[in-house]
Amino acid sequence: LFVAFEGGDGAGKSTQSGLLAQWLTEHGAQVVQTREPGGTTLGRTLRELVLHGRDGSVSPRAEALIFAADRAHHVATVVRPALSRGAVVLTDRYLDSSVAYQGAARQLGHDEVRRLSLWAVEDLVPDLTVLLDVPSAEGRARRGAVHDRLEREADDFHDRVRQGFLDLAALAPDRYLVLDATLPADELAAAVRRRVSPLLHR
Ligand code: C5P
Repeated sequence: LFVAFEGGDGAGKSTQSGLLAQWLTEHGAQVVQTREPGGTTLGRTLRELVLHGRDGSVSPRAEALIFAADRAHHVATVVRPALSRGAVVLTDRYLDSSVAYQGAARQLGHDEVRRLSLWAVEDLVPDLTVLLDVPSAEGRARRGAVHDRLEREADDFHDRVRQGFLDLAALAPDRYLVLDATLPADELAAAVRRRVSPLLHR
């Protein structure tokens, strides 16, 4: 079982991924909790390059390719091997982040970036994507201090990110759980468990 957590910066993805991992472990599942960008050694170098580049400049296509390279390596060395062992893999961000950030917000094109990402992962798509939907003003408040180049983008950038995610969810509603990220964390966690539970016993 492969589950991705997606949403804008400050949506609470890692909190929810952690809560689900804990619940699954308590119920006897083998769980691999991972993230992008930066879920591998190579990925951590790529993450540094793209988020904290020396002069702060990464051209949009270079940015898209670096995230795709990170994901290709992450899928080949972490995600696929874990799925083959029968583990449940939870990833904080996946392909949708590229479509939302580089495709929609940087305006490189939804379909182009999606195709690039699918090529990078040899078409591995999650069984379920949990989209933690957060209005950009709320996201900004939650992020607090700015940590990287992308968090510094204006609200309209984050609005396009949000719309990019929602458009993806609308394309394949069966594979998405869209939640209002402003709800309390325990309510969100319960909704995630309700949706994941039947998937464990297929
Ligand atoms: O989720 P996390 O904080 O690890 O993501 C790091 C940064 O990378 C975030 O600022 C996010 O906006 C950005 N990002 C991106 N495009 C992706 C994935 C992440 O711009 N495909």
